[in-house]
Amino acid sequence: MDKVCAVFGGSRGIGRAVAQLMAQKGYRLAIIARNLEVAKAAAADLGGGHLAVSCDVAKEHDVQNAFEEIEKNLGPVNFLVNAAGINRDNLLVRTTTEDMISQLHTNLLGSMLTCKAAMRTMIRQQRGSIVNVGSVIGLKGNIGQCAYSASKGGLVGFSCALAKEVARKKIRVNVVAPGFVRTDMTKGMKEEHFKKSIPLGRFGEPIDVAHAVLFLLESPYITGHVLVVDGGLQLRM
Ligand code: NAP
Repeated sequence: MDKVCAVFGGSRGIGRAVAQLMAQKGYRLAIIARNLEVAKAAAADLGGGHLAVSCDVAKEHDVQNAFEEIEKNLGPVNFLVNAAGINRDNLLVRTTTEDMISQLHTNLLGSMLTCKAAMRTMIRQQRGSIVNVGSVIGLKGNIGQCAYSASKGGLVGFSCALAKEVARKKIRVNVVAPGFVRTDMTKGMKEEHFKKSIPLGRFGEPIDVAHAVLFLLESPYITGHVLVVDGGLQLRM
């Protein structure tokens, strides 16, 4: 059976590195993001046989349409990676309700919607593996990131609950929790300033996280696990 993986947020950063690694391993990939042109370029870059889909994960209708399009073009989705995410950093007292909602909707609700949409096929096949991309900030918290922390902490609770619900259907659900990774999301941060707090002395590269995602996707006896990939950052938080 084909190995078909939907990578939400696969057009840039961590999701893109995951897709590149999985393409090398023979997976057929759907690259999903809001900006279809960027997703198309990322899918084309993987070689032939992959698909680009436009979708806002925070919108249930978009997510349902995305799964229909993927199944029609690539076949049933048996692997799912949720790497779509945003941050709107600010102290809580200065964070607008709109910014709280957009982070919760994209980072938490979005992953819940994609997991729900994937369940029908995965349960029918009695097979499936999901990795949700959380964050060490969701485990430890950080100044200026209350809403982001809530969204990522919530993702851990959600993933553990779903892992329990669907284990008997042979579906696994895990979380990768990165530290600072060099992507568009962190481009405003000065690495020099943060390096001291990272025992391994550098920001992660997207590929560092991609290896952990692939490991969890393919590990048949791991479910409900949170794998921290942070160069040791958590040891000093
Ligand atoms: P990035 O480079 O900014 O990429 C974000 C990806 O998500 C893009 O493909 C983007 O495409 C997509 N996306 C954003 N909002 C979306 C929406 N509403 N619907 C569908 N797709 C959406 O970010 P990244 O650093 O790779 O982050 C990937 C994940 O890792 C996020 O969940 C982030 O919270 C998490 N993370 C990142 C770091 C870090 O240091 N970079 C650390 C810990 C955790 P469009 O904009 O076209 O939609």
